Amino acid sequence: MTDPRPLLMIPGPIEISPAVQAAYSVPPPSHTAPDLIEAFGTCLERMRRVWRAEASAQPFLFAGGGTAAMEMAAVNLLEPGERALVVATGYFSDRMVEMLRRLGAEVEVVRAAVGDAPSPAEVAEALAALGRRGPVKALFATHVDTSTGVLLDPEPLAGLAREAGVLSVFDGVCATAGERFEMAEWGADVYLTASQKALGLPPGLALLVASERALEARAGRRAAAPPMALDWHEWLPIHRAYEERRPSYFSTPATNLVLALAVGLEEILAAGMEARWEVHRTAAERLRTAWAELGLKAVPVRPELAAHTLSALRFPEGVDAALVGRIAALGVVVAGGLHPAIKSEYFRVGHMGYAVTRPEMLARTVRAVARALEDAGRPGDGPAALAALETTAAAG
Ligand SMILES: *Cc1c(COP(=O)(O)O)cnc(C)c1O
Repeated sequence: MTDPRPLLMIPGPIEISPAVQAAYSVPPPSHTAPDLIEAFGTCLERMRRVWRAEASAQPFLFAGGGTAAMEMAAVNLLEPGERALVVATGYFSDRMVEMLRRLGAEVEVVRAAVGDAPSPAEVAEALAALGRRGPVKALFATHVDTSTGVLLDPEPLAGLAREAGVLSVFDGVCATAGERFEMAEWGADVYLTASQKALGLPPGLALLVASERALEARAGRRAAAPPMALDWHEWLPIHRAYEERRPSYFSTPATNLVLALAVGLEEILAAGMEARWEVHRTAAERLRTAWAELGLKAVPVRPELAAHTLSALRFPEGVDAALVGRIAALGVVVAGGLHPAIKSEYFRVGHMGYAVTRPEMLARTVRAVARALEDAGRPGDGPAALAALETTAAAG
């Protein structure tokens, strides 16, 4: 059985479900068409449920990517000269630092070695140190850093921020709907993502949910208004209108993607959030065992730091980035390195969304990686790696 189309196993864009693809693949509706209004309103309601947010939290959804969602959070919350702490775990946290500096914020960074993450105690210390210089406005952290495959636990960080009266913002671009996140229970203020990662859609949408506190920070702003296209004050009436099923216009939404999102979120919620997180966790654990059978070591330095949405894997000795091309030649697209410090030393395999519900996709991926390693002269135990996909690895 050969599939002529390569399997897309990078950390986004990813394989999407047939139902999502069908919803997307229609002639573009108007942004004021009744079915579009219904889908938009439904998306906002479903976002609150997927984000596990309070009824008072406000979802935003607009044409853009993860970077635009990061920027929307930054420009609405930070005024020039205000202080922010970034918990840095890789390439995307560094992008956040640069973004905040461009806004004129005073940014402090707490970072760990590549593959590691600062502990909550280190973050608390950094927050306290920054607080001695004056009030701190916000703490930013990346839930899963896609460049290192490092997973952070947002719960203690959101708690620390809350205690200190600081807003907490989590970049969930490679995590949302794939890793546990409890926005209301943990007291997080912004959780943002893009459509093409664990949400399981084509690229093109930026999504975030903002807490009441975050909205109040924008409302109480003293500096000039943020750039218009990202300003919550422009977008709030539009989102409220859609949720009340009224037509509205500020900037044209990506209408086909909105239709697809309503279906994608429905699929996620039909399984239930616990089941959705669990299927990612199980797939990740099985793959982790498979990679070990193939002699591959992970970039995250401890198992509990390894994301459930992607694997960042070091090339074995004697193997270089040509491995990625060998895997592609076998019909599976994986990604090369991204973190500048180790870029040529590792590769990345995405395992989120539709693919983690399709054992044959995971098997095809492991088979291709196993064969490519063999071709590169570093064979692992291919049969054992494939067998690992059939059984749940021992916990811990
Ligand atoms: C992919 C990614 C981004 C950037 O998203 P784009 O849609 O490419 O702009 C930001 N943060 C994280 C953690 C990501 O994985």
